[in-house]
Amino acid sequence: MSKVAIVTGGTRGIGEAICQRLKRQGHTVIANYGGNDEAAAAFTKATGIPSYKWDVGDHEACLEGCAKVAEEYGPVDIVVNNAGITRDGTLHKMSFEDWNDVMRVNLGGCFNMAKATFPGMRERKWGRIVNIGSINGQAGQYGQVNYAAAKSGIHGFTKALAQEGAKFGVTVNAIAPGYIDTDMVAAVPEPVLEKIVAQIPVGRLGTAEEIARGVAFLTSDNGAFMTGSTMSINGGQHMY
Ligand code: NDP
Repeated sequence: MSKVAIVTGGTRGIGEAICQRLKRQGHTVIANYGGNDEAAAAFTKATGIPSYKWDVGDHEACLEGCAKVAEEYGPVDIVVNNAGITRDGTLHKMSFEDWNDVMRVNLGGCFNMAKATFPGMRERKWGRIVNIGSINGQAGQYGQVNYAAAKSGIHGFTKALAQEGAKFGVTVNAIAPGYIDTDMVAAVPEPVLEKIVAQIPVGRLGTAEEIARGVAFLTSDNGAFMTGSTMSINGGQHMY
């Protein structure tokens, strides 16, 4: 079962691991990214996976980007909404731009990508959408009202769209990673990170590959009866 798969934010971190894993599963994988051309070029050179730049927060750009991918590789049947950003700060220091950027990219990106690809999946009666949420969307996190709200929104979005897709062979699930060793977590100050790791029962950060394995399951036939769910992969930090 070889399909065309788009992974947003696929050129670094968790997205990169997802791209590589889906490629090993035999899919034609396309990585989207936001603006870091250098990282994207290095990724494509190393993996042979094409990378396409567009802002997932831009509705028209998503429609155009997905149409271009479909034209070049065929209908898109798997979408992994992984692109995400943080603009942390306590509420009294958080600007409207910080709020809006995170909502626009993290949550708006899921809507935009679904608008571009869900109708085709529905028509073809097969599709897989996996949205990358977060433990902080489940439990909240100090200094992240924007990020927690956007990620929490992803979990609601997933359940609602899953109901619309179910009769048409389209499954929609979310994965809520705990703290994973990527550039995003490298930006967390060391003393804060030490406290976070102390709260993880397995005693370590997760790896990007551990999230990719969850995506591989949800996008395969093994995951066909699973829809509207949130798979928590967090080392036991939040048992939800
Ligand atoms: P990284 O910061 O390492 O990578 C983010 C990726 O998203 C990059 O490829 C980046 O592209 C892309 N991106 C950012 N903004 C946009 C945009 N507007 N349009 C398209 N692509 C964009 O993140 P992680 O790998 O750590 O995280 C991946 C996902 O997992 C995110 O949704 C994050 O919220 C979630 N997550 C991460 C956790 C962690 O501990 N790392 C924990 C829980 C959830 P470019 O290189 O061009 O900037």
